[in-house]
Amino acid sequence: MIKFDIITIFPDIFKSYFNESIIKRAQKKKVVKINIHNLRDYTKDKHKTVDDSPYGGGPGMVMKIEPIYRAVNALKKRKTKPAYRQGRNAKCKIILFSPKGKKFDQKMAKRFSKLDRVIMICGRYEGVDERVAKHIVDEEISIGDYVLTGGEIPAMIVLDSVTRLIPGVIALESLEEESFSLKNTKQAIGTNYEYPQYTRPEKFLKWRVPKVLLSGNHKKIKEWKEKRMKWHLSLGMGEDNYRFHDHEKLAHYADAAADIEFRFPFGFKELEGIHSRTDFDLSKHEEFSGKKLQYFDHEENKSYTPYVLETSIGLDRMFLAVFSNSLQEEELENGSTRTVLKIPAVLAPNKVAVLPLLKRDGLPEVAQKLVDELKWDFNVDYDEKDAVGRRYRRQDAAGTPFCVTVDHQTLEDETVTIRHRDTMEQSRVKLSEVKDIISKEVDMRYWLQKI
Ligand code: SAH
Repeated sequence: MIKFDIITIFPDIFKSYFNESIIKRAQKKKVVKINIHNLRDYTKDKHKTVDDSPYGGGPGMVMKIEPIYRAVNALKKRKTKPAYRQGRNAKCKIILFSPKGKKFDQKMAKRFSKLDRVIMICGRYEGVDERVAKHIVDEEISIGDYVLTGGEIPAMIVLDSVTRLIPGVIALESLEEESFSLKNTKQAIGTNYEYPQYTRPEKFLKWRVPKVLLSGNHKKIKEWKEKRMKWHLSLGMGEDNYRFHDHEKLAHYADAAADIEFRFPFGFKELEGIHSRTDFDLSKHEEFSGKKLQYFDHEENKSYTPYVLETSIGLDRMFLAVFSNSLQEEELENGSTRTVLKIPAVLAPNKVAVLPLLKRDGLPEVAQKLVDELKWDFNVDYDEKDAVGRRYRRQDAAGTPFCVTVDHQTLEDETVTIRHRDTMEQSRVKLSEVKDIISKEVDMRYWLQKI
């Protein structure tokens, strides 16, 4: 249960909204508790003053800090009966509404839905004494780049969007498919919003519901779109580099078509096409071959010509996508640059380079021994030429995900330095662990398990 406390000088504003529909039910079910507090109850003077003129002049009035301070303090102390967590362990946030605050979004709503308590302060007039923002509240929130007359509507908006995310308020399935919260948010639909929805009638005036939504195939098509997108994302080339493009004009036999597009250096272009071709292909075969190509469904007790959903990926486009995305020129902290081929580890031609720090003291021999151990599992490069920094650069440019350096300490304690291409981070590991560490990143098996 989340407890909302709203501090306002216009408590009546909330009555009608919170006493209808889902928010009303949520209170009845004790999923949320809403308390509205009149800020004037926390004033001490006869006139119940909550505002005063600003220092330095200027138009309008500013809300005073003292009543707000008293109200928040009183609420923080208040012990109320119901079963929400109180005291030290309670996760509580104090929010002030203000146009200059952090922009409220679905992610924030999700975060708030995990709290035990939210105290919201609604401003009015020209705003609130800045010390409230500085010292009393945890977060300042804006609901958008425009100025309202008060924080009451923002409070309703936050309460509404948070409440509907609390388990039990609305059916789980409707939340899963919703705008902003889709898995792979942008990818799932091409934009950040839910699919357009339709309901009866199928035809109104001359406007029709899209054919694919009538057939029931769209669920399968959606599954395939997600499946294929997941495959692309598993390569780790950045979620923002992919999007769907749903075709509006369809081939005469198709009932849906979508592309997965990739952000090439020259813009988003098709990488893979997913086409729902209905029973066109097989029924044409039937027609010209004179042979029945039907499947008998025992459960339904009827025969039908199977539908084809064709998904086709371009190999050369994939190659270009991987290379254009992977080859990068990076500025380093010391001001120099490095060329690095950040190719997905599973595709890298060499998985590891073994580098003896020096060409003497027995280091090359130990390094060579490691090469002999690793070469059965991975393509291994061995390099002893030039300073180790230059060797790292060479391997970066060739896209080798790991460099293992053998140094004098290796001779003493059988440990080596392992360096990661992308982060350039180095860590000291046991010689015996090297194979496993590399395997986890480069092995086809681990990659496939991610899909
Ligand atoms: N003088 C201020 C506006 C004050 S509006 C300015 O120019 O920025 C009065 C109150 O309405 C604010 O204190 C705030 O609580 C609320 N409010 C107005 N617009 C808002 C918005 N976009 N988001 C959240 N709260 C808002």
